[in-house]
Amino acid sequence: MFQKILIANRGEIALRVLRACKELGIQTVVVHSTADADAMHVRLADESVCIGPPPSRDSYLNIHQIVAACEITGADAVHPGYGFLSENAKFADILAAHNITFIGPSGDHIRIMGDKIEAKRTAKRLGIPVVPGSDGAVTDQKEARRIAAEIGYPVIIKASAGGGGRGMKVALTEADLEIALQTASTEAGAAFGDDAVYIEKYLEKPRHIEVQVFGDGFGRGVHFGERDCSLQRRHQKVWEEAPSPALNAEERARIGGICAKAIADLGYSGAGTIEFLYENGEFYFIEMNTRLQVEHPVTEAITGIDLVHEQIRVASGGGLSVKQEDIKFNGHAIECRINAEDPRTFTPSPGTIPHFHTPGGLGIRVDSGVYSGYKIPPYYDSLIGKLIVHGRNRVECMMRLRRALDEFVVDGIKTTLPLFRDLVGNADIANGDYDIHWLEKYLAKED
Ligand code: ADP
Repeated sequence: MFQKILIANRGEIALRVLRACKELGIQTVVVHSTADADAMHVRLADESVCIGPPPSRDSYLNIHQIVAACEITGADAVHPGYGFLSENAKFADILAAHNITFIGPSGDHIRIMGDKIEAKRTAKRLGIPVVPGSDGAVTDQKEARRIAAEIGYPVIIKASAGGGGRGMKVALTEADLEIALQTASTEAGAAFGDDAVYIEKYLEKPRHIEVQVFGDGFGRGVHFGERDCSLQRRHQKVWEEAPSPALNAEERARIGGICAKAIADLGYSGAGTIEFLYENGEFYFIEMNTRLQVEHPVTEAITGIDLVHEQIRVASGGGLSVKQEDIKFNGHAIECRINAEDPRTFTPSPGTIPHFHTPGGLGIRVDSGVYSGYKIPPYYDSLIGKLIVHGRNRVECMMRLRRALDEFVVDGIKTTLPLFRDLVGNADIANGDYDIHWLEKYLAKED
């Protein structure tokens, strides 16, 4: 087992990883920018190292500084959290070259999955169902027209290097195709330095369903069931739940089994999420994330298994603490992402929080680095906390969520809490009857 883990992240996820390390009796080092000197994860860690000024590229993305911090403190492993360097293959390789363990998969697996065209090819080869579309990158209009006609309109043009919902364009008919191809490719080039794009069938009313997987480092794979993350705004998840209200046990076992086998065949090590669109009873692979996800707590709530403990065990060569048959699903969990944003316009709302009160009681978990008097710096993403609620079934979970939202107090700034208070009273949400476009339509109606 590791002696000392360096946490290369900030905010609620740095705290989340720190808690797991403490439980396992592992020493912790956190790195932070000058803007985060007062952050909760810095206060609670055994050691902290300031690695630079506020902008992420000078601090949380600065590989040299992070490796230097490992060497100064003698950390033998790094947990990257999500975002920042968590899917940076070069970072994983550099750590390996310094004999520091990256708590995550190999650089090569990150590389394959980071390139969406390569990821889709790999998924197909491993028997995972994919969205019909081009076999690889599409460059000329003629080829694009041929493929689009073959799969049928509408189609979506996506950036191979894409992420965070950027570089995607929908073409409803052939008349839109030329401009969609051009703009997606130009946008991708500007955002990612790689203008390769591909085409796939645009699914009109899908749900976003993702499967939590783990490779144990010895060639075995397991799945921890699915999460439904269909409630999105601008392709960003807002509310996540497990299990999906749309799946039955048989469908869950089928897609979970396919994913676990793929992970085993790939020789993958650590946590991963295989994301699908789900429509008319069919799953279509869209991407794989080779890290812990923001919404992992809903899976922890229904399985009772600490996924960060498992990540640390696997990375240290100790394998998983559970086999597939030990993973049982119990009840229902929902996560609300509390962002420091205006609940209508979603413009960021950083600033000081004079008073912060979190709900408690059975089935409630709040993951947040915020405390009364904390000042949210304006430099980073606006997620300030997550409310995760667990109940014996979805109805109980929703009742408890409503109560928890009532108790939650975040003074001084705007947050997305009022949006969740509206959603929890909505009939479609109560019925679990929503697709990936539901929230955008709902917000448009409210305006
Ligand atoms: P990113 O890595 O940028 O988040 P994804 O491939 O994961 O991109 O897609 C993000 C979101 O875009 C999905 O959750 C879904 O809402 C939408 N999307 C992606 N592909 C399709 C598709 N083929 N049809 C319809 N919507 C899609």
